[in-house]
Amino acid sequence: MSRVALVTGGMGGLGEAICIKLAALGYKVVTTYSPGNKTWKEWLDSMNKMGFGFRAYPCDVANFDSAKACVEQVAKEVGVVDVLVNNAGITRDMTFKKMDKVNWDAVMSTNLDSTFNMTKQVCDGMLDRGWGRIINISSVNGQKGAFGQTNYSAAKAGMHGFTKALALEVARKGVTVNTISPGYIGTKMVMAIPTDVLDSKIIPQIPMGRLGKPEEVAGLVAYLASDEAAFLTGANIAINGGQHMH
Ligand code: NDP
Repeated sequence: MSRVALVTGGMGGLGEAICIKLAALGYKVVTTYSPGNKTWKEWLDSMNKMGFGFRAYPCDVANFDSAKACVEQVAKEVGVVDVLVNNAGITRDMTFKKMDKVNWDAVMSTNLDSTFNMTKQVCDGMLDRGWGRIINISSVNGQKGAFGQTNYSAAKAGMHGFTKALALEVARKGVTVNTISPGYIGTKMVMAIPTDVLDSKIIPQIPMGRLGKPEEVAGLVAYLASDEAAFLTGANIAINGGQHMH
């Protein structure tokens, strides 16, 4: 029977590529959208037309009760979750001088609390069944820090602390927990940066001289989700074209 993969924020730039890759590999793919999202049906229809029978559920990943209700519905209508990809995330960039509590809290809750909120709903089941994959999408900026991103860098670094601690706790039960830290990936969000800024400020930081492709990150997710990756846990895998090495 095919495994169920739940990808949060699957309608975004990276999430969509992850959903497509996992579906192509035979997973039953379920994704989430923010309760306020008005275009989810359009996205689902366009994916269906391309032959991807994804299921999508409303979920505010920043809210524990919403995460709980979402995963319960998925379990009832699709099946228990074997692979969880904590991908949903936001930025609210500003220097620390201007950073207010609202923008700190929004980024912490959507990027970091969400990791607890979602993982909590699926982890016990994975342990009982003796198999599971938890994949947390962090960022190069959680590894190296970034100007104007005290909130985002803290949340993304926190995700990897979570990964390492949980990986220890579940290591003997067939469940792996890993972090992926992408650098600049050519999603719509990054492609919206003016070309001159991309060419003068961003691309020169990347030794490969180009942005990453969402499909490249999706390929890594697919590997971590696979049976072959059973011995890989607690890792933080950088995928950044050589921008940051440590
Ligand atoms: P997008 O902005 O394209 O997608 C983000 C997704 O997160 C959207 O689908 C959005 O859903 C969802 N989301 C946001 N807030 C919530 C919420 N409260 N509850 C549920 N879903 C929510 O971003 P990317 O695809 O570029 O990024 C995906 C992940 O990768 C993020 O965690 C990001 O930090 C990380 N990343 C991205 C990089 C890049 O270069 N693009 C580089 C490094 C890391 P909706 O639209 O329905 O609100």
